[in-house]
Amino acid sequence: MKASDLAIIGGGPGGVTAAIKAAKTGVNVTLLDENERLGGQCFRQYQKGFNVTDPGALGPDYTEGQDLLQQFYSCSDKIQYLNNTLVWGIFNDRSLALARNGTSSSLRFKHLVVATGAYDRPVPFPGWTLPGVFTTGGAQKLVKTERVLPGENSLLAGTGPLQLVLADQILKAGGKIAAILEAGNFANHWLQGLKGIWGNWNFLKEGMQYWRNIKKAGVPLLPNHMIIEARGDGRVQEVVIAKVDKNWRPERNNAQSVSVDSICLGYGLVSSAELTMLAECEHEYDLRRGGYIPLRKANMETSVPGIYAVGDGAGVAGRKVAIAEGCIAGISAAGALGTISRATAVDQMRPYQKKLNTINRFRKVLDDISLPRKGLYELATDDTIVCRCEEITLKQLKAALSDRNLRIKDLKRMTRMGMGACEGRMCGPFVIELLRHRLNVTVEDVGNLKPRPSTKPVALGVLAADKPAQNAGQ
Ligand SMILES: Cc1cc2nc3c(=O)[nH]c(=O)nc-3n(C[C@H](O)[C@H](O)[C@H](O)COP(=O)(O)OP(=O)(O)OC[C@H]3O[C@@H](n4cnc5c(N)ncnc54)[C@H](O)[C@@H]3O)c2cc1C
Repeated sequence: MKASDLAIIGGGPGGVTAAIKAAKTGVNVTLLDENERLGGQCFRQYQKGFNVTDPGALGPDYTEGQDLLQQFYSCSDKIQYLNNTLVWGIFNDRSLALARNGTSSSLRFKHLVVATGAYDRPVPFPGWTLPGVFTTGGAQKLVKTERVLPGENSLLAGTGPLQLVLADQILKAGGKIAAILEAGNFANHWLQGLKGIWGNWNFLKEGMQYWRNIKKAGVPLLPNHMIIEARGDGRVQEVVIAKVDKNWRPERNNAQSVSVDSICLGYGLVSSAELTMLAECEHEYDLRRGGYIPLRKANMETSVPGIYAVGDGAGVAGRKVAIAEGCIAGISAAGALGTISRATAVDQMRPYQKKLNTINRFRKVLDDISLPRKGLYELATDDTIVCRCEEITLKQLKAALSDRNLRIKDLKRMTRMGMGACEGRMCGPFVIELLRHRLNVTVEDVGNLKPRPSTKPVALGVLAADKPAQNAGQ
């Protein structure tokens, strides 16, 4: 079994900064990421073969990402980077299970940073399984890495700034957007907004830049609006949209239909916390910040000594927070491993901890606007499929719900929801809220789906082919 003083899972901004900070002090670092290329979600790179001739046109996050990746490559002699490597398990002997190039292997670690990011919150409603329905992240991946548009005429619906980012990217790639629907409304939060923005002017500048481009293209931006149904013969052809109240409950009498060939849905993000759960770190439930997230100390260490969690996987908060947290975890691990003194580590962490306080003030405003309201969990009808892997409808879940003392794990046993290939990543977050609202119980009463290895699908042939991991990152 191979070993590393510091293993880092995730090559997004959080994992990359943790690697840079620790490697610069002399720590032996191994960075593992399931993707072909580094960058994670927001610093996602183009496929090989594409050339960027005008970086400025690709927005501030592109150039910021390139700068960070350059820093990473400049210390890559001290980092073992394994791309195309899925970490599918964590075991009590402080080892990770890896799947790479069709084989499986293990890596033992002394310290571990989990920086696994987040994914789009799935929201079942009539028609959401039709071809032509994308998540914001899925559509963004198409546009960003493949240079393919989600459709010829798209409608964006959801909440939060990622919608504006995607709209800007689609427009710049030559696409057409029928409208952007925002379920919340900034106008209702302007006073907190003013307080939050203080000291965070760069966010305002970036947001205004996206907003100006969208306005210039004549795309309507409708606050307090949601999609209530997608219709079409074999693929999306039209959507029904409606104004919503403060609980995001639609005014169905005034609904209208809009002809589009694709929709992109972004109702916030869910933290990918399966690996910290598997490592038996303590978690709390915070819907604003992505559902179940690990409890952490100021140095980003979880309740399990030597296991740190940073970035969206430890509470959705954006790339600036992921970067600051990655720096803190990298420095803290260096202090614990003795490549710098603990006192130096404490000093070096302080400015990043201060920065986090400032950013989090602004983040709270965004979270207040975008906190999923009850109406979001009432869009599905009896025939709507909730668990896509096992094709379980809302009606089947409701039939099982006749017993009021059900926890989510009971529902799983009774209906098979959450037992498919995604292991409940898709239906789990929705069903937790469904149970809370329908049964009027606390999240503690609902419980959670316990992740098990493998946390993402791994072929049996890969498990059977047990070879040591190779170093071939890029
Ligand atoms: C779909 C999506 C699109 C986004 N687009 C933008 C954007 O355009 N601009 C912006 O400012 N913010 C964007 N965000 C927000 C953005 O994710 C964060 O600001 C930032 O990227 C978080 O950094 P991170 O390091 O925590 O996670 P990420 O950037 O998400 O990186 C996590 C990395 O870990 C990898 N990983 C996860 N699990 C495993 C595993 N088991 N084994 C191996 N590797 C694993 C992932 O594949 C990924 O590469 C987006 C978020 C999402 C979910």
